[in-house]
Amino acid sequence: MTKTVAILGAGPVGLAAAAHVLERGMVPLILERGDAVGHAVKAWGHVPMFSNWRYNTDRAVTRRLEQTGWRAPDPEACPTGAELVAGYLDPLGHSLAPWLRLDRNVVAVSREGIGKAKDAGRATARFVIGTEGAAGEERHFADAVIDATGTWFQPNPGGAGRPVPGEAAHPHVSYGMPDVTGQDRARFAGKRVAVLGGGHSAIGTMIALSELPGTQAIWLCRAKAITRALGGGAADQLSARGALGTDMKRLVTNRDVRLESGFHLAAIEGVAPLAALAEDGRRIEVDELVIATGFRPDLSILQELRVTLDPALECPPALAPLIDPNQHSCGTVRPHGAAELSHPEPGFYIAGMKSYGRAPTFLMATGHEQVRSIVAAIAGDHVAAARVELVLPQTGVCSGPGRPVAKAASGCCGGPAQTRADACCVKYEVAKNSGETGCGCGTASVEPAKAAACC
Ligand SMILES: Cc1cc2nc3c(=O)[nH]c(=O)nc-3n(C[C@H](O)[C@H](O)[C@H](O)COP(=O)(O)OP(=O)(O)OC[C@H]3O[C@@H](n4cnc5c(N)ncnc54)[C@H](O)[C@@H]3O)c2cc1C
Repeated sequence: MTKTVAILGAGPVGLAAAAHVLERGMVPLILERGDAVGHAVKAWGHVPMFSNWRYNTDRAVTRRLEQTGWRAPDPEACPTGAELVAGYLDPLGHSLAPWLRLDRNVVAVSREGIGKAKDAGRATARFVIGTEGAAGEERHFADAVIDATGTWFQPNPGGAGRPVPGEAAHPHVSYGMPDVTGQDRARFAGKRVAVLGGGHSAIGTMIALSELPGTQAIWLCRAKAITRALGGGAADQLSARGALGTDMKRLVTNRDVRLESGFHLAAIEGVAPLAALAEDGRRIEVDELVIATGFRPDLSILQELRVTLDPALECPPALAPLIDPNQHSCGTVRPHGAAELSHPEPGFYIAGMKSYGRAPTFLMATGHEQVRSIVAAIAGDHVAAARVELVLPQTGVCSGPGRPVAKAASGCCGGPAQTRADACCVKYEVAKNSGETGCGCGTASVEPAKAAACC
């Protein structure tokens, strides 16, 4: 019987999964809460991507689109989010229309006739996906589920995991990446604007603010030192990603952006202006505050499934050592697939931005590799599922366990350049060289040609 694979979310990774499902002769059921594909990407449509089309397109997708006469854009060019939607996701959405259900907000996933605690018959029971939308509640059935619902709609608050006093529903507090030079220009131009955060979203917003005449941008950075936030600069193999850090460093050095480092937001007082109060007593008075402290997954829809997640990052445990920002800043994450992304719930996977949980540094190219492998596993092709078919661009920096941030001239996170082609990480290499069986990260060894991508 032909398998039906439910794909939750019609973002770049969910849609790529659908293309792979069709190539494998299975039937996708794509459930999207928005009224169009790329609903989240549209929300950051004004943002220039730091990866070029080469890394933003999936091979099964381009095979599918080329059959419709679609021409691949210049692989070296970096699109904006809006260009990614117009030039790739929209045509893809059209070609997947028979299997796409828009305005279906997934509210719960479970197994048909079997509760979470029951074993018998679990592996063969269909999945039931509950959705809500303008057309009311619906139930959908599938043999496997790939949750690719991203994290965009769950921005982190300003405090340590919780909104600070005065933050909730504040009219002059915004999240993520407002379009400060476009549709939100009136709100920010000529104002004093503070940006809280240390990642690409915060940096991208401050660079945009610096283009607005008469606007004062203040960087509220939790870290005492900004080296890590600035990334690899010219050493970054994604030059646009490296340029984010280089531009930011110039703005801080030239005092075009005022830096308040070691700033832990404790409370927000007042409305217009508002005052951002730090735990150390600093008080920063501004007209607008942008909170860009990352995103988190919505796990509420998975409560009825047997899902195992890392207690800190809320990502699959096998992935955590590879992406843990406490350990790694390099963002060069070894490609991974079905093995790392599976859960005790048979036939269920989390892929895409959501698979990284609360960790930053997810790349679309990683998501494409994830779903290629996951769909192969669902189709029963375990050889293809275990194969790794991706080399990721290095960021040019690395800081492994116990090592300061340093230019990755020759090293890979936490040590000298690797010599063992089969090493999945430095710990593995050290363990193997001392006669042990491995590093215990539990992941399959990588293909020799791609060892350099391991981190
Ligand atoms: C501002 C920004 C810039 C980025 N730039 C880059 C870059 O340059 N290069 C790069 O490689 N990566 C970049 N990323 C990271 C990442 O690749 C993107 O976030 C990408 O869109 C992730 O794709 P996704 O399909 O996993 O998730 P999303 O694009 O977030 O798609 C998830 C989809 O699921 C839908 N959804 C959510 N909840 C539900 C629900 N309950 N029911 C049904 N549907 C739901 C959403 O509406 C959305 O359409 C960037 C991320 C951000 C936020």
